Amino acid sequence: MREIVVISGKGGTGKTSVSASLAILANRTAVLADCDVDASNMHLAMKVEIEDRSIFKAGLEACLDSSLCKSCAICRTHCAFDAIQIENGNITIKSPLCEGCALCMELCPAKAITMKEKICGELYQSSSAAGYMIHARLNPGAENSGKLVRQVRLKARELAAKTGKQLIITDGPPGTGCPVISSISDASLALIVTEATVSGLHDMQRVIALCRHFKVPVAVCINKWDINKEKSAEIELFIKENDIPCFGRIPYDRKISESIFRREPFVLHSGAAAQALCDIWKELNLFFIRKEQ
Ligand code: SF4
Ligand code: SF4
Repeated sequence: MREIVVISGKGGTGKTSVSASLAILANRTAVLADCDVDASNMHLAMKVEIEDRSIFKAGLEACLDSSLCKSCAICRTHCAFDAIQIENGNITIKSPLCEGCALCMELCPAKAITMKEKICGELYQSSSAAGYMIHARLNPGAENSGKLVRQVRLKARELAAKTGKQLIITDGPPGTGCPVISSISDASLALIVTEATVSGLHDMQRVIALCRHFKVPVAVCINKWDINKEKSAEIELFIKENDIPCFGRIPYDRKISESIFRREPFVLHSGAAAQALCDIWKELNLFFIRKEQ
């Protein structure tokens, strides 16, 4: 099973557009996974139809049985997170604020509080023009995004095994935090989409260091390389000096913004960017052929 994770180190480099276009080029031989669970948007880059959904639970939260509560407010006094409040004379627990420490349950003399699993979001299986997609939504303020990323990847692997697909294309989260680590661990390749800017170079360097730490092979492609050719040359020099392959350069192309507006991957609209993406796709396939020889 090949797993390509598209990451960037920062948001706004065109990572999702590239992922969606690669998925189209895979010609329905891949399962797609959107691991950007904090701001999932692959389903906006191309039209999808949700076929199945399930609840994502993680951690614990306090649950109050009001019929047992004696309103002594001991729980409220000791909750360090202000999750227990009094509304109209009644004790209430604010789910988003509860950290699940269980202290209130231990202290409650009336045994009115129990702990239950916290609902943190939803997981979806959808169909798209490029094939099946697994994506997710994390509830506002909910934590455990790394755990949800893991769930998305597990579901994508299960679906790939069930449908006989040998490839998973993942749109990874931005940054270098826990969700990114969860996205890249055990991946066959991290494809870094960077842009020809100062922060593009800086964030690419950070995410390369992260991939190297976790021993994940990396390759780079430069999006909108021609908006700053000098910076592009600097990026290419850095990756060459660090023995990292550059799979291609995507030029600025107005067809990309037009395709985003239409919710269609840009590779479907012939032009310079689409051609560059096709060349990157060839490089990706060559990478795996060489690796698996
Ligand atoms: S400690 Fe128990 S009985 Fe007292 S207010 Fe809290 S839930 Fe109610
Ligand atoms: S479990 Fe902890 S954080 Fe949650 S309401 Fe009880 S004391 Fe507060």
